[in-house]
Amino acid sequence: QPQIILLKEGTDTSQGKPQLVSNINACTAVADVVRTTLGPRGMDKLIHDDKGTVTISNDGATIMKLLDIVHPAAKILVDIAKSQDSEVGDGTTTVVLLAAEFLREAKPFIEDGVHSQNLIRSYRTASSLAIEKIKELAVSIEGKSLEEKKSLLAKCAATTLSSKLIGGEKEFFASMVVDAVIAIGTEDRLNMIGIKKVPGGTMRDSFLVNGVAFKKTFSYAGFEQQPKKFLSPKILLLNVELELKSEKENAEIRLSDPAQYQSIVDAEWNIIYDKLDKCVNSGAKVVLSRLAIGDLATQYFADRDIFCAGRVAEEDLKRVAAATGGTVQTSVNNIIDEILGTCEIFEERQVGNERFNIFNGCPSGQTATIVLRGGADQFIEEAERSLHDAIMIVRRALKNSTVVAGGGAIDMEISRYLRQHARTIAGKSQLFINSYAKALEVIPRQLCDNAGFDATDVLNKLRQKHALPSGEGAPYGVDIATGGIADSFANFVWEPAIVKINAINAATEAACLILSVDETIKNPKSESAQGEAAASAMGRGRGGAFRGRGRGMRR
Ligand code: ADP
Ligand code: MG
Repeated sequence: QPQIILLKEGTDTSQGKPQLVSNINACTAVADVVRTTLGPRGMDKLIHDDKGTVTISNDGATIMKLLDIVHPAAKILVDIAKSQDSEVGDGTTTVVLLAAEFLREAKPFIEDGVHSQNLIRSYRTASSLAIEKIKELAVSIEGKSLEEKKSLLAKCAATTLSSKLIGGEKEFFASMVVDAVIAIGTEDRLNMIGIKKVPGGTMRDSFLVNGVAFKKTFSYAGFEQQPKKFLSPKILLLNVELELKSEKENAEIRLSDPAQYQSIVDAEWNIIYDKLDKCVNSGAKVVLSRLAIGDLATQYFADRDIFCAGRVAEEDLKRVAAATGGTVQTSVNNIIDEILGTCEIFEERQVGNERFNIFNGCPSGQTATIVLRGGADQFIEEAERSLHDAIMIVRRALKNSTVVAGGGAIDMEISRYLRQHARTIAGKSQLFINSYAKALEVIPRQLCDNAGFDATDVLNKLRQKHALPSGEGAPYGVDIATGGIADSFANFVWEPAIVKINAINAATEAACLILSVDETIKNPKSESAQGEAAASAMGRGRGGAFRGRGRGMRR
């Protein structure tokens, strides 16, 4: 009997039940890393990479991205964390925990020989039931006045921020974030909120500019004599170099008479003076350019009481244009009034030990800048990431305008609902839906664990409360302050419904995807050294999902 060779020599295949179980183990190991970051009492992770960069973060997506996971199945968790981050911006830890918990609940069934397709089918049913239930429970904030809406949105932002490093100042930052988001309007213009980081000072020194702010650009001599504050100035935005150019570099010039040399030099000067005159004649008091503004120009403007800044970052210039209503010009010819921008106050101001150009009170009002202050670099970086989460949440809440109770309340309620529903189903499916329901309890349980509460005790109380036939227990969740249970809705621990819906959807999809894989085929020859590390990690199962040892990761 000749041997039939199907795959290239050296190809490693692992399949069937052990493969599924090993994938599940890897995912659980990954979730164990982010587990402790959930919630207001969650811990942060310090991640130290090959290059020596240190990142401190509480954000699920950031941690997952930095973990350098090589296990092929566990990578799916990284992807869902990333997609949750870009879709809704928050709930990234939640999504990873849920996916891993769904898988963990599935593991005993798989080991007992249940076909994974049966599980997948039940999980999908459970997920759509859960999402319907969330939509039913969600409370709309539509139709409120702006002031009311603002305070409601600030509650959502505060809930997001409460789990972060800057949680201590959550009210302060929440209202700042809400103001910024309302300023830019509902259109998709996220890049119109700038976050500038200035080390030094305390968090409380952070402030919101209703317009644009950026760090003073490099400037030449003469800059000191320029005025640093204007009321309602006209603003000229350029993409033009205002520097004395040596024109002989651009053209070949032949001189027969040395006396003519002067005319060449004069021509060079005339060109630049002509440009500068045009800028001055436009009536602009502030001149910004994406390209360099040289010392000659700086002095020229200073003599005429005009402020100038060269080499402004493109992004900042765009935001100035949007905010002030100006248009960036690529030539100084024909400057008409329409293309000049304006704002209420322009000033150059000291912030910490940096100088900032600040455009406040911009007419279009479609930009906002948050200037973040704080101690260490890592701290400000994390603060920026946290604000990003909060900004996304407020935007989502503004768009979809429905919220649900946080603190595990919604998770407990869906869990109860699914268990109740499961009782009406005959057959194995009942067990699977029950497991799905049980998995949802991971959120309140983890919130308790991270806060040092007795999770079993709190969960029992919550189950009792949610089981009340009147349904009045539905908004009850973990009370982070006392270690008991409390009405999360009344305590304003709110989350946009979309966060939960997206998290449940993504987590279920990821779990089903991993459950549907029963074979991994790998050819070592086609893989790099990194792939080999993955191969050995695969074999080790639990705790084997990460590359390298002793990097401070829990194994
Ligand atoms: P994620 O990355 O998933 O957003 P977080 O660390 O931000 O993870 O934690 C979010 C969880 O913490 C949510 O389930 C939310 O309901 C809960 N939470 C936030 N603030 C509170 C609070 N004050 N009391 C109880 N639970 C809270
Ligand atoms: Mg969060």
